[in-house]
Amino acid sequence: MTMPAEFGTFFLPGPTEVRAEVLEAMIHPMIPHRGKAYEALHARIVAGLQGVFRTQRPVYLMSCSASGAMEMAIRGAPEGPILSLVNGAFSERFALIAQSCDRSTRVLSVPPGDTPHLEQVEEALVNGGAEGAAFAAVTVVHSETSTGALSDIRAITELAHRHGAMCLVDSVTGVGGAPVETDAWGLDFVLTGSQKALALPPGLAFAVASEAFVLQASVSIGRGRYLDVVEYEEFARRSQTPTTPALSLLFAADVQLSAIRHEGIGARWARHAEMLECTERWVEGLRAGGLGVGLVPRPGERSPTVSTIALPAGLDAKRIVARVAELGYVIGGGYGALKESTIRIGHMGDHSIDTLEPCLEAVGRALHGR
Ligand SMILES: *Cc1c(COP(=O)(O)O)cnc(C)c1O
Repeated sequence: MTMPAEFGTFFLPGPTEVRAEVLEAMIHPMIPHRGKAYEALHARIVAGLQGVFRTQRPVYLMSCSASGAMEMAIRGAPEGPILSLVNGAFSERFALIAQSCDRSTRVLSVPPGDTPHLEQVEEALVNGGAEGAAFAAVTVVHSETSTGALSDIRAITELAHRHGAMCLVDSVTGVGGAPVETDAWGLDFVLTGSQKALALPPGLAFAVASEAFVLQASVSIGRGRYLDVVEYEEFARRSQTPTTPALSLLFAADVQLSAIRHEGIGARWARHAEMLECTERWVEGLRAGGLGVGLVPRPGERSPTVSTIALPAGLDAKRIVARVAELGYVIGGGYGALKESTIRIGHMGDHSIDTLEPCLEAVGRALHGR
């Protein structure tokens, strides 16, 4: 895929660089959202997303940011206590959403940069929640964008199922960049946002719920209305959404998903894996040169879409980000607990090693105070 000349400057871990062709798709005139033309658009986007999520289930097109889909997952989750696996700021947000929806929630934390420890998860599942009640659901973040750690959502889903719980997966910086096999891994609920690895403008969330998830939700109370998974499922059957969709963003999604289908999801995953390897080699090179930097997560637990780099003592994240911006690249500062001590590079969406390498070179210059 050829990129416009100005492409390659935006390496924020969301929103990510959006190609001109995708932005231009948004000037499409409005269409009625109850009608054949909309239904065809909706069906095409869903088919594209089914290839991305690797599912036969309908993909819900939600006109809200990804947090809306997180709340949908919680609102529709089976009755009973929720176990929230927390290893950074976004997994903490999932726990807070559960708590603020009045769900009995137990938080199982590991330090930022780690991934949930499977033995601890199993132990928690065995012990249960308040008064020993079995957990009904587990929340987990696939790619923790605040630290760059990639959790084994397949293993965690298996564990949850073995103990009678459903697994709700935030894969906002996973889907479209890291392998996700919704059906083969039996994910009960998995969600993403438009502005991360799918390289779309912000404003859409995409979610898939298993048949079992929807079935149990249909007889539960307290699902609310606006984010009701059962409503979305019913409207999905007619290729519609319950309320007026953000049409302009859907025109953009249509164009981008056709490009993603053309690239192939396997090739897209491989391209992201290469960008992580490229970043790892670059960090090794800096270390070999005597600079005390390091990637926050352990090898083998690193997200292919976002790298969080711990800075040497004395270097301030804000200054580095500002210097890199002067050199022409937008990267992220630290997030949450790692705000001042780390920088984050979002190597996702339509980026490749070719666009990433000059960015890393600029970050290298900034780190060396040049
Ligand atoms: C960006 C992000 C979110 C939140 O997305 P919004 O679109 O701002 O609601 C949630 N989880 C993860 C892992 C993210 O990276």
